Amino acid sequence: MARGGPRNPMPQQDPLERVKNFDEVALGYTEEMALDEAERCLGCAKKPCVAGCPVNIDIPAFIQKIKDKDYIGASREIKLTNSLPAICGRVCPQENQCEALCVLGKKGEPVAVGRLERFAADWEAAHPDGSAGASPSQAAEPSPLAKYKVAVVGSGPAGLTVAGDLAKKGYSVTIFEALHKTGGVLRYGIPEFRLPRTILDREVDYVKSLGVNILTDVIVGRTFKVADLLEQGFDAVFVGSGAGAPKLLGIPGENLSGIYSGNEWLTRINLMRAHREDYATPIKIPKRACVIGAGNTAMDCTRTALRIGAEEVTIVYRRGREEMPARAEEIENAEHEGVKFKLLTNPKRFIGDEKGAVKAMECLRMELGEPDSSGRRRPVAVEGSEFEIECDTVIVALGQNPNPLIRTTTEGLKTESWGGIIVDAETGMTSIPGVFAGGDAVTGEATVISAMGAGKVAAAGIDKYIREKHGLD
Ligand code: FAD
Ligand code: SF4
Repeated sequence: MARGGPRNPMPQQDPLERVKNFDEVALGYTEEMALDEAERCLGCAKKPCVAGCPVNIDIPAFIQKIKDKDYIGASREIKLTNSLPAICGRVCPQENQCEALCVLGKKGEPVAVGRLERFAADWEAAHPDGSAGASPSQAAEPSPLAKYKVAVVGSGPAGLTVAGDLAKKGYSVTIFEALHKTGGVLRYGIPEFRLPRTILDREVDYVKSLGVNILTDVIVGRTFKVADLLEQGFDAVFVGSGAGAPKLLGIPGENLSGIYSGNEWLTRINLMRAHREDYATPIKIPKRACVIGAGNTAMDCTRTALRIGAEEVTIVYRRGREEMPARAEEIENAEHEGVKFKLLTNPKRFIGDEKGAVKAMECLRMELGEPDSSGRRRPVAVEGSEFEIECDTVIVALGQNPNPLIRTTTEGLKTESWGGIIVDAETGMTSIPGVFAGGDAVTGEATVISAMGAGKVAAAGIDKYIREKHGLD
């Protein structure tokens, strides 16, 4: 295809097959496809795509390396600013970022930047030459900064990025993670069919290889507090605790059994393997499941429900198709797998059976009014339009806010009214000297790459803070 033609489509597992397994849906470009796609890039002198990337990867430079068949070089070019390219190549909403600014998109389809990023990262992983894992911790001379200790709360993309960047500089870094496994949403939220765990494990192993100590099953705010960490001799603390508290509908019947929050549903399946007989944490397989909401979490909930054997899965959303916040690709994937969409519909109350389990949802039809503060048209209920939808499982996937534990146990920590931690945008420092924060804990639910970007800002801020505090040059 190359110049002038459409982008190379992503090879995928067949929808009828993939709904029966948790294997990755997108299979990745072959070398031939990657070369062809790279040839579509014009190598624009002004590089408009770079400004669309939250960590400013030099996109034309890495694509040129693919054109030159230097795939490992391409991966390393990306890694100059993005330490998790195999993850970002898979889950970044590129269509709203770099690809949205690609000049080819004005008249046709933009270069498939994310797919090329994934290709380069996967190529490097499949062709190790022994130098990729080299780290300061393996150097003969211990770093003079090793006596300065940094605590990181949370092992999601924000925490892993801060930890990796500071360990590379030579600091002693310990991550405290509440769950028994690392990775945050990358492990308990995003399902394996979008992000295989081998890729996440590889990235976590890399951070460990830099000398980072990771302690799981430690809930900061319960086991000990942020202030205790400073008292125990940590020079700085980074809070990357994410946004794990679900937003609920607040309507009658929401406590009936069979009703889950999106996070609970995904955690039960992705982390606790509730659908597998060899695990002791079973979940009832739905006959008719309704998922409320239309963001990425909602799409992931529908598609996991199908994979564990649900007979019918329906998205119930109060706005229309154009307003759905999930990535277009994920909406399409869900549709191809058989998910139904009931749009302009809003639940009013849940109806239970005699055992207290949900058996139906009373809903209202909606119409779209004028745009609201989000810029999307406001849904307005049609009076007297009540109707019922039968269901035995409901998953409420309306998004998440930061968990209140850290803010309620950390004296002097300033937060927004909705719970986000307030930080200095230049350094990531909070209202408490030496305490930094970033990622979803600050912004509310956002993206993997924005959490990583915040991690980079905070790592630089912590380095500056410790150097100034100890009079280092
Ligand atoms: P998290 O990933 O939430 O990690 C926070 C970590 O801190 C967790 O491991 C948590 O257990 C731990 N923690 C919390 N409190 C404590 C405590 N008190 N003590 C110790 N540890 C604690 N973004 C995309 O870019 N693309 C996508 O396709 C996409 N899909 C998504 C799908 C789902 C289902 C969800 C929920 C989100 C999705 N996102 C996606 C958003 C993205 O995953 C998040 O923005 C990102 O993970 C935020 O990173 P973080 O490091 O700030 O927090
Ligand atoms: Fe290549 Fe598109 Fe970036 Fe131009 S804008 S350099 S064509 S990816």
